Amino acid sequence: MALIVQKYGGSSVADAESIKRVAKRIVDTRRAGHDVVVAVSAMGDTTDELLDLANEVAPIPAPRELDMLLSSGERISMALLAMAIHSMGFEARSFTGSQAGMITDSQHGAARIVDVTPVRLREALDEGAIVIVAGFQGFNRDTRDITTLGRGGSDTTAVALAAALKADVCEIYSDVDGIFTSDPRVIPKAQKLDHISSEEMLELAANGAKVLYIRAVEYARRHGVLIHARSTFSSAEGTYVLGEGMKNPRESEGEAMEEPIVAGVATDFGQAKITVAGVPDVPGKAAEIFKIVAKSGANVDMIVQNVSATGRTDISFTVPKADAAAALKSLAAEQTEVGFQNLVHDDQIGKLSVVGAGMRTHSGVSAVLFEALSAGGINIEMISTSEIRISVVLRDADLAEAARTVHTAYGLDGDVEATVHAGTGR
Ligand code: ASP
Ligand code: MG
Repeated sequence: MALIVQKYGGSSVADAESIKRVAKRIVDTRRAGHDVVVAVSAMGDTTDELLDLANEVAPIPAPRELDMLLSSGERISMALLAMAIHSMGFEARSFTGSQAGMITDSQHGAARIVDVTPVRLREALDEGAIVIVAGFQGFNRDTRDITTLGRGGSDTTAVALAAALKADVCEIYSDVDGIFTSDPRVIPKAQKLDHISSEEMLELAANGAKVLYIRAVEYARRHGVLIHARSTFSSAEGTYVLGEGMKNPRESEGEAMEEPIVAGVATDFGQAKITVAGVPDVPGKAAEIFKIVAKSGANVDMIVQNVSATGRTDISFTVPKADAAAALKSLAAEQTEVGFQNLVHDDQIGKLSVVGAGMRTHSGVSAVLFEALSAGGINIEMISTSEIRISVVLRDADLAEAARTVHTAYGLDGDVEATVHAGTGR
């Protein structure tokens, strides 16, 4: 008998029918003899609808009240799910984030979990109940207020519960079958991975893959939680996300599979490029520029500085599209101070990243990427690397084609096209 934490995303509990299907799945797990704790998201697009409503009554909704409002979405789904389970003859009890002991800092809208004290959950489990917890929310001890963890936060709730309860596995259910070598909507030949290391998953998530929420993967990595990402709509196994030293549960004793060098190819259409042109080539200018950008709240990703021939140089960097306007405004305000000549904003870029732990020990991995792009006649505008990742910035119109070419070049193509549900992976 195991303790299994399951998380169901909004698309898995979008209406009464779906809630009943999820209830059945939970009951089946219970019938198999396991203890079950469930973290559930708000139904369908509830969170977005509540946000819209808030914006209709106030241009900038008060953060405390916004959290009161948004946390109600998960309260609806948790109670309905518990009712559906009752009607199948099983004992289930729902708990809000604060009842579940999900203690966070006081940052409304982006709270971080600082402690989990699942006393009531333990009691309920000991009494034989299935436990349902509202995802995405917590409680701050100092302000005694309800907080939310940020969009997609129910994944983190599930992983934090799994860590605190020492669960055997944290199953994250969504409308996609698992983690793929690339986004199947961009690359139809993407294959579902049997497993992936958590460090590779973090790099993929940080570079555009949306199937798992990055903070949940970080939390799992830190606390040694085994994640199994799988589909609500099929009983097929999905993808295991393995932390350091974790064994793939599907691998039989002794026969370790050979790890592929590259785990996946991520695409990101969400970045914009800013070029600060004609920057005086003297010490301290990069520091000035990036201090201004940081103060504007923009999150810088890639940076490139050209060599200068004339005593001036160009510095280009990328930021999320949504941050670009603020960064440009702040830079423009300091133009005379910094002494650059002009600013260029380009939001027609796309980022392609190749991720694989095997890059540490294999040479020639980047050459494959550059050859594939060159054969496809695709121009590279920026390059950055980490120990296990190579990223390039391209024209956004080239990104899908580039990703397909690169996916093929690394031998990642599957024989059959991946089934894509209308899914969002949430
Ligand atoms: N309902 C929240 C959201 O839509 C949390 C979640 O789904 O994980 O962001
Ligand atoms: Mg949601």
